[in-house]
Amino acid sequence: MKIDFTKSNDGLVPVVIQNYLNNQVLMLGYMNEEAFAKTEELGKVTFYSRSKNRLWTKGEESGNFLEVKSIAIDCDNDTILIKAKPFGPTCHTGSTTCFNEISNRGFVYELEQTINDRIDLAEDKDSYTYKLYNKGINKIAQKVGEEAVEIVIEAKDNNDDLFLGEAADLMYHYLILLKAKGFKLEDVENVLKSRENGPRRES
Ligand code: AMP
Ligand code: ZN
Ligand code: ZN
Ligand code: ZN
Repeated sequence: MKIDFTKSNDGLVPVVIQNYLNNQVLMLGYMNEEAFAKTEELGKVTFYSRSKNRLWTKGEESGNFLEVKSIAIDCDNDTILIKAKPFGPTCHTGSTTCFNEISNRGFVYELEQTINDRIDLAEDKDSYTYKLYNKGINKIAQKVGEEAVEIVIEAKDNNDDLFLGEAADLMYHYLILLKAKGFKLEDVENVLKSRENGPRRES
């Protein structure tokens, strides 16, 4: 697998950096052949900085290095994807990632991401999400069952606050169960979409 540094006139190839634990995209930079060689030599992501006009090892001043875990190259050899372990925030603004969300399909997707992070990054082993997840499918499914019963009870009552609280509990635990089964909200969405024009049925 040879990287093609000749496609652009400046000999630079875009490099996407992902957190190796949760696949969060951290930043995008450029490498020339020399920067790539330096990256392999150091095991730390080293770009060619177009503003500094020199090799730039990310973290050289801040100490916030990106330790290389794996390197992938795209289908036509002109883009690099590096999975790395970030030391400290990757962005010079102090943010984890250089990318700021400017559009989002909704809060529930953000929550899904937060739950994924709690579980996959395991940074806080006291987190309720982390602990419940690690009790296994049976325990998680049982919690979903309990919350389902609770929302049924509150639905029959006339207390909106309690009903909404149980609705939130159910959704939260349901997301953990999906994750434990290896699925995402999107998978459920796709099933629902596929039914849109299908036969109506009562289940
Ligand atoms: P560092 O490589 O983290 O020691 O940062 C050195 C300098 O590089 C900073 O002062 C910024 O000007 C710039 N810099 C650091 N991180 C980024 C980044 N993620 N994206 C763009 N510029 C950066
Ligand atoms: Zn390509
Ligand atoms: Zn940044
Ligand atoms: Zn509840």
